[in-house]
Amino acid sequence: MNDHDGNEIQVLRAALRKAEAELQRAREEDESRKHLVDILHEVMGNLPTEEIFHLLARRLARALNLSHASVILANPGSATGVVATAFEQPHLHDLEIELDKYPEVISALHGRIPVLIPDLKYTPLYAGLREKWAKDGTQVNIRSVMALPFPLDGDNWGVFLLRRTEETPKFDAADVEFASTVVRSGVAAIQRAHAIETTRADNHRLEALAQTDPLTQLVNRRALTVRLITEMERVRRYNAPLAMLLLDLDHFKLVNDTYGHLTGDDVLCGLAMLLQRAVRTVDTVARYGGEEFVIVLPETGKQGAIAFAERIRDKIGAHAFQLPGGREIHITASIGVATFPAQGMDSAEDLFRAADAALYRAKGSGRNLVCS
Ligand code: GH3
Ligand code: MG
Ligand code: MG
Repeated sequence: MNDHDGNEIQVLRAALRKAEAELQRAREEDESRKHLVDILHEVMGNLPTEEIFHLLARRLARALNLSHASVILANPGSATGVVATAFEQPHLHDLEIELDKYPEVISALHGRIPVLIPDLKYTPLYAGLREKWAKDGTQVNIRSVMALPFPLDGDNWGVFLLRRTEETPKFDAADVEFASTVVRSGVAAIQRAHAIETTRADNHRLEALAQTDPLTQLVNRRALTVRLITEMERVRRYNAPLAMLLLDLDHFKLVNDTYGHLTGDDVLCGLAMLLQRAVRTVDTVARYGGEEFVIVLPETGKQGAIAFAERIRDKIGAHAFQLPGGREIHITASIGVATFPAQGMDSAEDLFRAADAALYRAKGSGRNLVCS
């Protein structure tokens, strides 16, 4: 082996070492990126959508040395979008923007694939904007742009818009790969957050629905019983009395027979509104059954409850229930009043039973009466 050969081998060895070092560095970088994705996965577990956007934009900005990182929400084909979050402007959110200034966003939404622009100066996508900038004398300091689209739900899409300035190297394919991976794992978390938020809202609606009488929108009998048990518990703890009014319309069958069931329903709705308007916010008005209603009055004793029941009875008797065609119906109600605490009264059923017995007396004594 001559000197020349020896030199060449040394050069080759150095190149090999350099390549190995690069490979090692790339591996480590890859490891650290994988690590970051793992962290994101864990951190975003239960965050709401907004915060996940914000976190992803911030993490991507740091990891990729970005000058700008924002999330834009838009429907494909739409001319405007909404900036949900922007790393470089932490206080900005839900700002509406015209998408024609962001051709890479439009393109990403249209193709539903990542769009990479290594250098704004050379891409045909920006030809129109470059011309405009030249005309306006606008200085643009952005070099590289990446737009990563992701589905939200239905027609709603989002785009991560990532940018680097002139001072930073151009994006390459590895950067796109990395950002896409982060966004993908983020999107899984966003979709999970979205599903949780929707389920929570649905559960809330279902719960409200399960407590509501569909005709009058009043509290139904089941929810009334639950509320009554809570109220009776308060009575035991704070020693403040509680009253219940059980109200039954007089000869309501006659209303149905004369005007029809639908008109009967209208009268029930009108009555529900009348009762709801007559009570305090702490009181509960419930539809107990067909044309029977219950009013629960916390912190009200027997005298107060009877006086209130008389006022309600008067109001109903004086009210003209409007019918289609300008006609009016007048009805009356009988009301049974019961209060708690009272001797031998222990449960919600006992209270209902006492109110029912009082109502029965009111009916038996000629109707349009209050009995206790
Ligand atoms: P009274 O209570 O004074 O003894 O006479 P009433 O005619 O009201 O008799 P009762 O309480 O026995 O009858 C209740 C009537 O209410 C019978 C039923 O057709 C009617 N009703 C019950 N639920 C509804 C409803 O949801 N809509 C309508 N339109 N009518 C109902
Ligand atoms: Mg009845
Ligand atoms: Mg009746």
